[in-house]
Amino acid sequence: ASKQRLLVVANRLPVSAVRRDDGSWHLNVSAGGLVSALLGVKEFETKWIGWAGVAVSDEIGRKELTEALAAKRCVPVFLDEEIVQQYYNGYCNNILWPLFHYLGLPQEDRLATTRSFQSQFDAYKKANRLFANAVKEQYEEGDVVWCHDYHLMFLPKYLKEENSKMKVGWFLHTPFPSSEVHRTLPSRSELLRSVLAADLVGFHTYDYGRHFVSACTRILGLEGTPEGVEDQGKLTRVAAFPIGIDSDQFIKAVKLPQVQDLIKELQGRFVGRKVVLGVDRLDMIKGIPQKALAFEKFLEENPNWHDKVVLLQIAVPTRTEVPEYQRLSSQVHEIVGRINGRFGTLTTVPIHHLDRSLDFHSLCALYAITDVALVTSIRDGMNLVSYEFVACQASKKGVLILSEFAGAAQSLGAGAILINPWNVSEVASSIGQALDMPADEREKRHHHNFKHVTSHTSQEWAATFVSELNDTIVEAQLRR
Ligand code: UDP
Repeated sequence: ASKQRLLVVANRLPVSAVRRDDGSWHLNVSAGGLVSALLGVKEFETKWIGWAGVAVSDEIGRKELTEALAAKRCVPVFLDEEIVQQYYNGYCNNILWPLFHYLGLPQEDRLATTRSFQSQFDAYKKANRLFANAVKEQYEEGDVVWCHDYHLMFLPKYLKEENSKMKVGWFLHTPFPSSEVHRTLPSRSELLRSVLAADLVGFHTYDYGRHFVSACTRILGLEGTPEGVEDQGKLTRVAAFPIGIDSDQFIKAVKLPQVQDLIKELQGRFVGRKVVLGVDRLDMIKGIPQKALAFEKFLEENPNWHDKVVLLQIAVPTRTEVPEYQRLSSQVHEIVGRINGRFGTLTTVPIHHLDRSLDFHSLCALYAITDVALVTSIRDGMNLVSYEFVACQASKKGVLILSEFAGAAQSLGAGAILINPWNVSEVASSIGQALDMPADEREKRHHHNFKHVTSHTSQEWAATFVSELNDTIVEAQLRR
């Protein structure tokens, strides 16, 4: 039998396109979580639909990019710069992202955002329409269409209006907030109704799904059932599908000779000191200032640890043109500088802070030599860094300190030390507890997490979502 076709629609394609001076296209494949998840799913023939990250205004350029991407099974959606500004930077990143992470808007942006809300929302719908048109061109009867994330909440509605038989799933990669937060959005009802057009709606955790169902019952007055949301006899199935990682990829990488060399080099650099590791995009949701303050408190209370521990923070730059992110960066630098000034010696500093990303092998080596991973997200859909750390710790069996506000706390909670990142004293004492933890307890906790990470992989996540979507449609037909 031929494989079922799967159309994966996400804002960004797993490929970045760069135009060379001679007009030809260079494609960089980015091996993000979603890509490795779907590469591992062999039972489907997958095609990607999304934005390639560049504005292309000429017809020849569009045609050539389309042809180049076709070789990677990718189909581009072309968005002009104005739409990208209003839809992507505006509505998606300035409104939905902070709201879904309970962040609120910076005071000085509130009125400006209120004023530009309608035009950004219009651009959002327009962009979603462009994605729908691209799906329509690719669609063949029987295809499964899997829409991703907060960028594409109108897509299920637009697709179903076009063809009510299309199999449509939607998955949210961020938290879905309490209905009390969602209801502050001027477009609260339209967004919910559009998502409800899907056959299956998925979230990382049970809580996010419950928040979504309550938003539908309280704001739209619909009926919530254990299965999902019902509207005049039509059920939209709502369920939790916690994503995972391709754990084998990490386990294998750690064993590579070049990674083992890196591991030895790093161990040499940090000899005599325990390594506490943070790996985060430099985003408000990651709680990086809170992490530094907790580490400072730990040093304050534990003079015996000065010189024997280092906090290694990898802060991957993100959205660097946005003022609020620039402010966060300055704030973090100021705190780190102060702590290093306060506790540093002539030869060492307690916090080693890097504003950069690492290549995959360096990251694996770093995970492998770490004694304590410190995840302090104030909200985080899942947090894959915590999974990746566990996958690389087969020999060291280090400790994971994990924010209870990360989705991962639902799955790694029993093996990790859970913390409230706002409680600086609690985090400080957890650092001490982790550094002093006896080997047998570390092993027990690691074993628990390792078992989870290796048995709940990204491939399994993708396969489960799509098979649940197929089942949902069969059940709906039986009910009719
Ligand atoms: N990562 C990376 N380069 C780096 C540091 C991290 O590619 O220098 C990756 C990391 O391996 C992980 C992802 O970035 O897969 C971060 O995912 P997570 O779910 O933790 O947070 P997000 O950035 O999606 O909010």
